Amino acid sequence: MINPLFKKIDLQTYKPGRSMLKKTKKVIKLSANESALGVGNRVKKALRNIDKNISKYPDSKFKELTKTISKKFNLNENKIICGAGSDEIIQMLCTLFLNKNDEVIVPEFSFLMYRIYAKIAGAKIIYSKEINFKASINDIIKKVNKKTKIVFLANPNNPTGTYLSKSDLIILRKKLNSKILLVLDDAYFEYMQNKDYSPALDIFKNSKNVFILRTFSKIYGLASLRVGWGYGDKKIIDELYKIKPPFNVNKLAQVCAKEALLDKDHVKKSIKHNLYWCNKIKKELDKFKISTNEITANFFLLNFNKSKLTSKLVSKRLESKGVILREMDSYGIKNCLRVTIGNTYENKFFLKQISKIFKNV
Ligand SMILES: *Cc1c(COP(=O)(O)O)cnc(C)c1O
Repeated sequence: MINPLFKKIDLQTYKPGRSMLKKTKKVIKLSANESALGVGNRVKKALRNIDKNISKYPDSKFKELTKTISKKFNLNENKIICGAGSDEIIQMLCTLFLNKNDEVIVPEFSFLMYRIYAKIAGAKIIYSKEINFKASINDIIKKVNKKTKIVFLANPNNPTGTYLSKSDLIILRKKLNSKILLVLDDAYFEYMQNKDYSPALDIFKNSKNVFILRTFSKIYGLASLRVGWGYGDKKIIDELYKIKPPFNVNKLAQVCAKEALLDKDHVKKSIKHNLYWCNKIKKELDKFKISTNEITANFFLLNFNKSKLTSKLVSKRLESKGVILREMDSYGIKNCLRVTIGNTYENKFFLKQISKIFKNV
């Protein structure tokens, strides 16, 4: 027998931050930038009271959720679309905008889903250089040509934790040919306390050529429900609706996302927790010459170039104690690990293991 012919896509299967280890039963997973505090009380309550009737399809237009989003962020409801994670919206954008041989620009150490979906859509990925792990506007502009269709940028960026300031973003949009779609991914904006930072949504609300991504997977703690949203020009949104799988966001996800948005206290608490532990972890790691990016989101890129041990060794030792960090090989970043800020117990345990590993070296 033979296989009917399928397309050959030059890709490796995406490897998520690991959540399991072979030997250890109890695992501290600090590898996927998930919420440190889990979900808040409003979501917990919604989960208890959820309408258990699951035999009917969910709302294909997410009316309740988009209404809540539009109220909270003062947006036109008709310019919002939801996805099974912002991942799905990235995929839909690639389907909508990209033809074979089109080009997409991404910073060299950026979120992997941009290049994966762009490649599946047949586009060529062009990597813009970074300076000290930070996207360079000039290099992005340099890489533009007639084939360029989309520039993807997460701000702050995963996995480097660096960000472009509000004025940087405005300059980038000005310098970039207006025919090119700039996709700005606000996945971690809630955590940002940096004075020169603005979420893309605050800057480009009325832009026709900027598309903004938001997610419920990070500070809101709904990663396993798969729900995110996108905001852009009505014409783009209308086209995305045409290609969207009709019932892409399930009912539970829609209900919980709405409740999560309304739980201001939980978000506040999460931001405070994050800031406290970012400061603490940064200071502790500095003792072992493990350097990090400045404090931005709920994770650090840890650089071991000045430390006495390599990232590989530290990762292995941590794993033997049940602590999983994200290895950076698939991102092409050498001698680094990414650590997510966990809950108090997890952070303390992580720091204790680090200090044990570096004892007597
Ligand atoms: C985690 C993350 C997301 C979220 O993806 P979902 O599909 O919504 O879970 C989006 N963008 C970046 C840069 C991320 O790190």
